[in-house]
Amino acid sequence: MSDDRKCPACSGTMVFDPGWNRLVCQFCGFKEEIPELVSKVSITEADLDPARNVASRNWGMEYQIVSCSQCGARTLNDKLQLSGRCPFCGSTTVVPVETNGDIIAPMGVIPFSISTKRATSIFREWIGNRFLAPEKLSRNANLNEFTGIYLPYFTFDADSITDFDGMFGYTAGEGLNWHRRAGQFSMFIDDFPVVASRKLLEDRLLVSAASYRTREAKPYTPSALAGFPAEQYSMGLAQAWDKAKCDVVGYLKDAIKKNESAYMQKNMHLSTEYANIKYKYLLVPMWINSFTYDNRLYTIVINGQTGEISGQWPKSFGMFMKRAAEIFFPFRS
Ligand SMILES: [Zn+2]
Ligand SMILES: [Zn+2]
Repeated sequence: MSDDRKCPACSGTMVFDPGWNRLVCQFCGFKEEIPELVSKVSITEADLDPARNVASRNWGMEYQIVSCSQCGARTLNDKLQLSGRCPFCGSTTVVPVETNGDIIAPMGVIPFSISTKRATSIFREWIGNRFLAPEKLSRNANLNEFTGIYLPYFTFDADSITDFDGMFGYTAGEGLNWHRRAGQFSMFIDDFPVVASRKLLEDRLLVSAASYRTREAKPYTPSALAGFPAEQYSMGLAQAWDKAKCDVVGYLKDAIKKNESAYMQKNMHLSTEYANIKYKYLLVPMWINSFTYDNRLYTIVINGQTGEISGQWPKSFGMFMKRAAEIFFPFRS
C-alpha cells in the first residue's frame, strides 16, 4: 500500500497537495488524484458499544510515532516520510517511540482545502490588521513556514431524553418574568464534536479555531497523510464520549430554553439518558506556526478546511511589534 505514494513516473515520494485532493511528486511534479477524497461516499458512524463494534487498527501504511522532547507532542508519521521536526513547536529533538500497534485508525479524514500559500496570506492579513500597517510591508515578506498536521477528532450521534427543572425568563416590558418549569425534552444529537488533540486543549484560544464541517469528511486514506503527520489522540473513545456528555449540557440547556420560548434560563438541572450512541473518528487538518519570544512559545493555528485563524500573542505589543516585523516581515533591499 505504501507503493501508492511512489511516483509512477520517477518513483520519487509523492506528498499530499493541499487544496487539490491529489498527490504530487516532489521531484518531477507528476500529479495523481486521490480517489477516496473525490468520492461521494459518506462515512458511516460506528456503534459506541464495543461489543458491537471493533475499531480498526489498520492505518494502511507503516507508521512511526515520534515524541517531541521539548513540548511533549506525539505524532504519527508515514515511515517513508519522517520529518524529524515537531509540528507544534518546531523543535528538532524528536525521538521515535515504540508502540504495540494498538492505535485506532481513523474512519474518515477532512483533507486540507487551504493551501500553504492561502494560509500565509490569511496570516498576513490577520497580523496586518492587528499590529502593522499592511502597506508598509514588503511584498516579499518571508514568513516562517506553516506546518500542516492532522488532529484527532471525534463526533457523536445519539438519541437523548432529558428531564429538566429550572427557571425560565420571559421578557415583560423592561424586565424579565421568571417562571419555574419542569418537563421532558427529546433531541437527536447529530455530529457533536470532541477535539482529542492534547496540544490544542492546552489553550482555549487554539481550540476555538477547531470547528469543522464534519459532514464533508471523506473515507480515510493514507494518501491524505503523505507528508503530513497526525497527532496521536490524547483521549480514547470512552473518554471522548465522557467529554461530549459534559460539553453537550450547555447545548441542551440552550435548546430547552428555546423550546420553552424563553429569553433566558437559570438554575437548570438536567438528567439525560442516551440511546443509539454512534461515533466517527476523524482526522482534521490544521496549519500551525510557532515562534519563541522572551523564552515563551507562541502558537498560531489556521483551520485547514475553513481558514479560521486563532493565535497567541505576547501582551507587550509595543516591544513585540518591532520584533514581529523582524521575524515575519524582513524587508529585502
Ligand atoms: Zn516523479
Ligand atoms: Zn514540540
